[in-house]
Amino acid sequence: MFGHVEAITFDLDDTLWPCHEVIVAAERACYEWLSDAAPRVTRHHSLESLREHRIAFSHRRPDIAHDMTAVRLHALSEVLSDHGYAVDVARRASDVFRAARNRVTPYDEVVDVLRRLRARYTVISVTNGNSQIEHTPLRDSFDYSLTAAEVGAAKPDPAMFHAASTRCGIGLDRFLHVGDDPVRDVQAARALGIPTVWVDRAATTWPPDIDPADMQVSNIGELAEQLLS
Ligand SMILES: [Mg+2]
Repeated sequence: MFGHVEAITFDLDDTLWPCHEVIVAAERACYEWLSDAAPRVTRHHSLESLREHRIAFSHRRPDIAHDMTAVRLHALSEVLSDHGYAVDVARRASDVFRAARNRVTPYDEVVDVLRRLRARYTVISVTNGNSQIEHTPLRDSFDYSLTAAEVGAAKPDPAMFHAASTRCGIGLDRFLHVGDDPVRDVQAARALGIPTVWVDRAATTWPPDIDPADMQVSNIGELAEQLLS
């Protein structure tokens, strides 16, 4: 089915590692750090109200909304400055968040499957998230890694796929994309003519108004079986 494929792009969050609990832990670590470094902020703000402020901030700043690190940093700078703290405190808080955000645990099969796929394909990560791949357990798993922050637009914008193609020198007509999100992964790649694999780890329901992916798997080992058999 994918005989023409030379390059495989992988989404990261909820495709190769679970994401929600990592972000919750990172937000907690950051908030705890703030309670020491900026107690006037944590007396005034709960974790939840900081999150609400950040969401409102990203709506005010669509120019940086694709860059979660910038959104977190600038939103927090605003809150800190409202309470008389220097911008540097926001930078250090952002570092605390990012260190915890990188503490991801790939799903069991991932490291081995990526290693096997790389023997035959160019393997590229494309993420809207703000993990830093070089500080995660998948630091040696990809030929190239791209982020929305670096490309300047988040999926479903086609920019990340075009950038990946330019980076590896392989045309999009030789790409395959693998991800968990029906819109940001499957619909976005299909709009460029890229065949798609939907990774559905939690046995969720596919949205009825979107055409299904070319292949559906519950883990990427099933994809490797198809591609490498
Ligand atoms: Mg994802």
